[in-house]
Amino acid sequence: MSLCQPNEKFSCGACCGLFNLKIDFNEYKNILQERTEVFHKTVDFSIRWTMPEYRKIRENKESNYPKKDDTIYNCPFLGYIDENRNRIGCMIHPFFTGDPKSQNFSFYGAGICQAYDCKNKEKDSANEWKKLFEEVAQNSVEYTRLASNHILINRIEKFFESKQIPLNLLFSTYRKFIKSVLVLEINSPNKYLTSFELEMESIFGREEEALMEYLENFDDEEILNNFKKVDQEKFPGST
Ligand code: SF4
Ligand code: SF4
Repeated sequence: MSLCQPNEKFSCGACCGLFNLKIDFNEYKNILQERTEVFHKTVDFSIRWTMPEYRKIRENKESNYPKKDDTIYNCPFLGYIDENRNRIGCMIHPFFTGDPKSQNFSFYGAGICQAYDCKNKEKDSANEWKKLFEEVAQNSVEYTRLASNHILINRIEKFFESKQIPLNLLFSTYRKFIKSVLVLEINSPNKYLTSFELEMESIFGREEEALMEYLENFDDEEILNNFKKVDQEKFPGST
């Protein structure tokens, strides 16, 4: 199972654009539910024009939703891909259509859809982060907020590197503490993530400051103070 599709309970869909829409949790669920129902009622994989027709109808229907970043496309082929309506994913993925090029009916096309890996997915540590996200997230919206958030994950990793603490300790000794940070991230105001966000400046040489800047948004003194103790021999939040 990949960072995108970790298990049967939830998955990530940030790079398909839905979570760039400035709507709330229930509206995400409503859109996904509606897309999935309309898709299954109107699309027949053996009648190829039904796929672009579905796309046109849904693009029109969703065109008025406000976006965080207007330049990012919101692909209506992202929907629920399991019977329990828990996992989100590409409804025209070749796995379902049997056609390796079926995503060419989308805006990006099969080449981009299948080749794109976000920065978190590219990491050597992606599998370790996936396991942590799975322990913290309760549903696909929460999981997406973690899996696609490369800025937070990169700043945490760089912070540990700057303290010369091996990354494997982040996932063992410091596991409980890092999970508490991820819970805060899930509960913080929605950031409407796409995975295309850019780190606007280099954090090299200012790793601790960069992480503290991010964590200040959580308004949680204890977390800030515990991070400041990370380079001490005995760290209170680490076990
Ligand atoms: S944002 Fe990353 S983890 Fe999420 S679906 Fe896209 S590639 Fe996968
Ligand atoms: S067609 Fe591409 S952009 Fe659209 S849901 Fe599928 S993978 Fe995502």
